[in-house]
Amino acid sequence: MYEAPTQADGEEARAFHTDEYLAILKEANDGVFKEKYAGYGMGPGDNPVFPGMYDFSLTVLGCTMTAARLIGEKKVKRAFNMAGGMHHAMRDRASGFCFINDIAVAIEYFLSKKMKVMYVDIDAHHGDGVQAAFYDSNRVLTLSLHESGRSLFPGTGFTDEIGEEKGKGYSVNVPLRFGTDDATFIWAFDQVFEPIIDKFNPDVLVSLVACDMMHTDPLANMNLTSEGFLHAVRKMREKSTRWLCLGGGGYNEFNTARLWTLVWALLNDIDLPDELPEEFVKKARTEGFQLHGLMDDPYRMGEWRKQEVMTEAQNSIRDIKRTIFPMHKIKVKKGFFDDLFY
Ligand code: ZN
Repeated sequence: MYEAPTQADGEEARAFHTDEYLAILKEANDGVFKEKYAGYGMGPGDNPVFPGMYDFSLTVLGCTMTAARLIGEKKVKRAFNMAGGMHHAMRDRASGFCFINDIAVAIEYFLSKKMKVMYVDIDAHHGDGVQAAFYDSNRVLTLSLHESGRSLFPGTGFTDEIGEEKGKGYSVNVPLRFGTDDATFIWAFDQVFEPIIDKFNPDVLVSLVACDMMHTDPLANMNLTSEGFLHAVRKMREKSTRWLCLGGGGYNEFNTARLWTLVWALLNDIDLPDELPEEFVKKARTEGFQLHGLMDDPYRMGEWRKQEVMTEAQNSIRDIKRTIFPMHKIKVKKGFFDDLFY
């Protein structure tokens, strides 16, 4: 089913953001920059002030909240808002193209319904805003797989960020080396996602299915194809009873459109034709994007720096199995640490 979303009002955003920050955002809706905005992360750079920015942010939030309510009211099991996923926005400031954190607001809504939430962030950039929002909570478990903060914004998301107070053990980070390919990503994802979701047993899964880990993305340095990406999406579908799926990043826009179409089809049990519409491919090429004519990527990426990327993934997983797994009494397969092969 398709439900037309409605724009959120500022009231809804207060579930996560401070009144002071929301007032500034509303004031900036006229697109005229004022010096005081800089203290809220806004200005030249990633978070420019533009006309209608408050309305735009509330529209994105409205879409995500429409999807969240359909799930919370048990009208649907799964919903997808590809425009959503502003994972960098903080409680009191803008960050990384994100002004209102629709994910954190949606999670607050699920918490108000007494639902336990697992959040999975598949995006080249660390899901820092959502992690920070629930860092001391044991009702929300966040799992983020991303390009290491050593080479990419926002420079966080290391394995020692595990949460605090009651939330200790409920923030899980899998930093991966730039150049990480399908095989390494799939290995790392399988090492953590299933054991954790089985143990935590959330009432709802919220996830970001961003496309900036793809090998063609101009803003990040990962090397995935549709194979690694869809592996994670399929697993999340298989293991969730209720699932709010959000878009997130993706800066090769034609590739992103292709991949979110694949996600949409998967969520709706639709078989897509193998080939992309001719018109779409033509338009992409006219605009200078390299695009093959198929829905799925027809090849696996090569063995580029295989050893380095696998070593870094193994180090991340080793840390998680040593620190987080014992906190949740998740068993580690006998001999796991001896079998790491690089
Ligand atoms: Zn991103």
